[in-house]
Amino acid sequence: MKMTKKLRLPLTALLTSTAMFISLPSANVAVAKETSSQIEWDLTDLYANTDAWEAERQQVLEKLKELDSYKGRLGESAATLLEVSDKVSALQKSALRLLVFATLSADEDLRVSETQERRSLARSLFAAMNQATSYMAPELLEVGPEKIEAFIAANQDLQKHAFNLRDTMRQKEFTLSKEAERVLANAGDVLGGPGQIYGLMANASMPWTSLTLPSGEEIKLLNQAAYSKYRAVQNREDRKAVFDAFWGTWKQYEAMLGATLATHVKGHVFNAQSRGYENALAAAVSGSNIPTDVYRTLVATANENLDSMHRYLKLRQRLLGLQDMHYYDIYPEVTALDRTFSIDDAKEMTLVSLQPFGKKYLKHLKKGFKGEWMHVFPQEGKRPGAYMFGSAYDVHPYLLLNYNGGFEDVSTFSHEWGHAVHTMLSRENQPFETFSYTTFTAELASTTNEVLLQEHMLAKDLPDSERLYYIDRALEGIRGTFFRQTMFAEFELKIHEMQEAGEALSGAKMTKLYLDLLRKYHGHDEGVMNIDEAYAIEWAYIPHFYRNFYVYQYATSISGGTAFAERMLAGDKTATEDYIKVLEAGGSQYPYELLKSSKIDLASKTPYETLIARMNRLMDEADKILDRMGK
Ligand SMILES: [Zn+2]
Repeated sequence: MKMTKKLRLPLTALLTSTAMFISLPSANVAVAKETSSQIEWDLTDLYANTDAWEAERQQVLEKLKELDSYKGRLGESAATLLEVSDKVSALQKSALRLLVFATLSADEDLRVSETQERRSLARSLFAAMNQATSYMAPELLEVGPEKIEAFIAANQDLQKHAFNLRDTMRQKEFTLSKEAERVLANAGDVLGGPGQIYGLMANASMPWTSLTLPSGEEIKLLNQAAYSKYRAVQNREDRKAVFDAFWGTWKQYEAMLGATLATHVKGHVFNAQSRGYENALAAAVSGSNIPTDVYRTLVATANENLDSMHRYLKLRQRLLGLQDMHYYDIYPEVTALDRTFSIDDAKEMTLVSLQPFGKKYLKHLKKGFKGEWMHVFPQEGKRPGAYMFGSAYDVHPYLLLNYNGGFEDVSTFSHEWGHAVHTMLSRENQPFETFSYTTFTAELASTTNEVLLQEHMLAKDLPDSERLYYIDRALEGIRGTFFRQTMFAEFELKIHEMQEAGEALSGAKMTKLYLDLLRKYHGHDEGVMNIDEAYAIEWAYIPHFYRNFYVYQYATSISGGTAFAERMLAGDKTATEDYIKVLEAGGSQYPYELLKSSKIDLASKTPYETLIARMNRLMDEADKILDRMGK
């Protein structure tokens, strides 16, 4: 990711919206089972054939050249501003549609070079577009807010561009002279270096070892994928061996990876200070206009509720039947479900569990189910995991799944459809210019579905073992998404604050800091879970630290989503209306304000405490079940 503060231009705002909303494959992904009857999406809704795709790409490249003729003319008149804004919108709309087609066809089979090449052609369109529009934000800032406002008032058709134009004006305070901007832009490439170096190291250059487990099984290459698989095995000695070897590999590069991350942090701080932001955090959250209080309240509230996290770890201990707990005991599954669900079951469960969303939502969901929008089952060469890609404004969302029939697959199904219906509602209510929403609200619209699915299952009359399974899934989600991500967020904030205070950062210091956080979150001093020093190098393995205050959004999303779900389940009649309003608003308002106006204030403790209350309630029930089972 580039370090330079990207000006959010009317016109390039949507370039940031090409993000797909991706669910990571769970740790124990089943090996792709070939299914005789694949359910496939219909890509001809996007383009009749690849010739049509190529023709549109050529057209975009041709039309991009026209943008040059508006250089120096953005302040000329409302009509000129409208003309160029409309042109950029049209180009973006086309480029996104091209990208969606290229991505989906490439992901069906990653081994086909023709479709992979088409994808990189589509991606490079965005680089070309960035370049062609790069003069616009600085020029608009020079024209200034007064004139821009007058243009908007004078020309009704500029309304659809107003949010993005004003958003660009919002950056005025932090925009420097032309010369200084040029220096910062040039520095941007250099400051993006650490992230690239990290990526090369972690993905291509780490000298992974082989390992023979105490049980006799041989791991040829203990890389990230093998770690994800073997850290969850039931044999405890094996897990410990995997932890020792895997973290041992990382530990050898503590100094080097520390210098890499420290340089990255220095880059954030340098940029924030150059532009006059209060600090790096303020600079990072200013993009989506989120108050820093959201971040700080999240971290503070998680800290106030660490008792619940510790209680969860003790519950795991009880389920695992262990005398003591170590960090390597966190991943093995403690419950199992002896049941599978067909794709029709998944649809039915999603429809029924989402009843609280009301008629309008369900109507869209049903419409989506009827379309050929999904690529459902695993197949050889297919991209793992799941995502929803909804950026083709004039078409409809598409979903890639690797459905294997487990409950987790049903949950992912419901999650991705949450993104899809969000996209549909936004598209129905917003012009192209404000249809794409931020990550901050996106993951809320999917997490709520997961919570409602869990609660739907738990409302049934179930055997204890099955009930315990759903409770465990919910609790594990809260641990991984709320507590773990907030711990990362706290680490990220601390290393930035150390840098801002002029302290020299090093790999060893980061390990010390991370060890303290691991121990605090996992109750080391309280005797809940032993955190061995050797594992405190884990910070070096988290790629998100190169994404500049990104991970906290996982924790705010699950909290906001839970808060909405709880209101609905408690019979709050305004909850559904408030929720739909958030989805329909798309990107037409800033996400924090939008949620606040729907009575979810993420700068207050309430949503986080609501999540903790649910967690405690689930743990109460788990304890009762275990008592009954005599465990
Ligand atoms: Zn998602």
